[in-house]
Amino acid sequence: MPLSEFQLIARYFESLAPASPEHGVVLGIGDDAAILQLPPGEDLLVSIDTLVSGVHFPPTLSPRAIGHRALAVNLSDLAAMGARPLWFTLALTLPDANEAWLAAFAEGLGTLARSSGIALVGGDTTRGPLSITIQVHGAVARGTALRRDGARPGDDLWVTGRPGLSALGLRRLQAGVPDEDPACAVFVWPEPRLAFGRALVGLATAAIDVSDGLLADAGHIAERSGCAIEIEATRLPLAEGLAALGREDALALCLAGGDDYELCFTAPPSAAPSVDAAAARLGLPCRRIGRVTEGHGARCAGYSPPTTGFQHFGGSTDA
Ligand code: ADP
Ligand code: MG
Repeated sequence: MPLSEFQLIARYFESLAPASPEHGVVLGIGDDAAILQLPPGEDLLVSIDTLVSGVHFPPTLSPRAIGHRALAVNLSDLAAMGARPLWFTLALTLPDANEAWLAAFAEGLGTLARSSGIALVGGDTTRGPLSITIQVHGAVARGTALRRDGARPGDDLWVTGRPGLSALGLRRLQAGVPDEDPACAVFVWPEPRLAFGRALVGLATAAIDVSDGLLADAGHIAERSGCAIEIEATRLPLAEGLAALGREDALALCLAGGDDYELCFTAPPSAAPSVDAAAARLGLPCRRIGRVTEGHGARCAGYSPPTTGFQHFGGSTDA
């Protein structure tokens, strides 16, 4: 007997739904809507992302990695705003109720949900080509969220981690390296920078998570903030695996590879010691890679992008 929608939810997803008052969940999965209470004095942040098989991840990616990724890319948006994760909803479209697939998917999703302290509060389950939509809800003290529009001329530009390693991992995956190989890990298991994002509240003037590619995403900060961003190629934190590719390819992956889920942010030079201290405390590499100036657009001297960032409907980003 195939699983009914209700059995499927009860078996695989209800354990991700701690309906405890400390999570602010008055009523979780099972009714027509969830009832949620935001802590007093906080702003609610909401973000949604869909992953379509074959578009956002290779169809061969393991279900455990798909479950992780679907939540990770959403948590990364909360990280970029400095928010604390609270709740998520899950809209799942599946070709069939394959139990082995569901168990592995729920394990990947659940492990990250538990370690990030986010509770599943509802969703929708439908049949069709594999696609996963997650909406996350988070909170920050009122008025303190990190936004894209606060960069000012004179600020420094920073990035966490090793941008480009994810694109390199995807390239290896597409060349047939299995997804459990550590060489693909940065692509397969993106780590949302939640703790670091929260540490940036009060330090960063603007922030974004790197999903389209470092240069394109820096361009989004520039555009929203009404200024220009200059990235210095010599300051880019090229990982060893990238540097081995040769300068041009390494720069392209680092600046336009995408799917990094690192944080790119601006901060006044006076904040640099605090940024360094937060990075050291969290054991996360973080590098000053450029600066904010008058003007518009983001550029990196010595690198000319063929196209900046991935666009589902064509066109090019104004970076
Ligand atoms: P309705 O018909 O009122 O929209 P559903 O029958 O779709 O409700 O869902 C029943 C309950 O199960 C709801 O509380 C809904 O939020 C929850 N739910 C459905 N699918 C999922 C899912 N994939 N993950 C978590 N909760 C789900
Ligand atoms: Mg209903």
